[in-house]
Amino acid sequence: IKNIGVLTSGGDSPGMNAAIRAVVRAGIYHEVEVTGFIRGYEGLINNDFVNMDRKSVANIIQRGGTILKTARSEAFNTVEGRKKAYDNLKANHVDALVVIGGDGTFRGASVFSKEYDFPIIGLPGTIDNDLEGTDFTIGYDSALNTVVDAVDKIRDTAESHDRLFVVEVMGRDSGLIALRSGIGVGAEAIMIPEANMDVDDILHKLDHSRQDKSSKIIVIAEGDEAGGAFAVAEVLQKKYPQYDTKVSVLGHIQRGGKPTCMDRVLASRFGVAAVEGLLNGERGAMVGQINREIVFTPFDHATKHIDAEKVSSTWLKLIDILSF
Ligand code: ATP
Repeated sequence: IKNIGVLTSGGDSPGMNAAIRAVVRAGIYHEVEVTGFIRGYEGLINNDFVNMDRKSVANIIQRGGTILKTARSEAFNTVEGRKKAYDNLKANHVDALVVIGGDGTFRGASVFSKEYDFPIIGLPGTIDNDLEGTDFTIGYDSALNTVVDAVDKIRDTAESHDRLFVVEVMGRDSGLIALRSGIGVGAEAIMIPEANMDVDDILHKLDHSRQDKSSKIIVIAEGDEAGGAFAVAEVLQKKYPQYDTKVSVLGHIQRGGKPTCMDRVLASRFGVAAVEGLLNGERGAMVGQINREIVFTPFDHATKHIDAEKVSSTWLKLIDILSF
């Protein structure tokens, strides 16, 4: 392998720049050229790339977003699109790829690497932390810290006004951001898709939570089936007229901002492992970290995964105990 292509694809997450930097620096260290493709798989198809040198990744470890930009590519879902991508890679003498993204990105990588017998390693870049094959994804810790920072501020004003806040956080069909941030902010209750709770369960929890506390915070995951923060707030307002109930949907602030040190280190470690893995013959797999060890999981297994049983028995129980 003489030239490794790198790209970021799907939804962005804080720490993607740190990952790009690590891939480039590891390439330089091992005397391999690195080519950066712009806007994910679109860059392969449109032949839109930059040659990455040491300087091209200077001073980006602390920056959110991705200097390579990211996109979803309709064309890469087609045989013709992938053929164009392959032809461009060949023409540019790129003989391996590191793709940074979520499970969709790995599905694309899996299809492409089988079609063309092309070496690809994936890096888990998503704030949702919902992938099999790694304890943590790049961006999860940063998103959590953004949520905690925001909800701490909401708590101040909630406490002053004796208010009940329903705070909606990201995570799509996963409740892992809500779960961990909910514990971190001392939420009275959380609502996540994995737990199948309805508003009656929340009412019950509020009745059993500390009555001497004048503010209440409920963290709800965007994918929860109860109908979103506004629907839940409406029911709660009726049942608890003593609380002035408010809603805060945190939205895309969770996808941006400086990556935390945890994410920078994780991304750096993964980026180097990806390059060294490729040079050692690894391919068709995602780099992850399980119990502090680097692990390669085949793309077909690096899919969305949540242990709902564990979530309920361990983490939700913790919230019940702490808010009692
Ligand atoms: P996130 O879910 O965190 O936003 P992701 O990587 O899952 O990130 P997707 O939009 O699902 O984001 O996937 C990224 C891109 O991967 C798609 O736009 C598409 O180009 C490609 N892709 C996904 N599935 C396939 C597939 N089955 N075949 C070919 N390409 C695919």
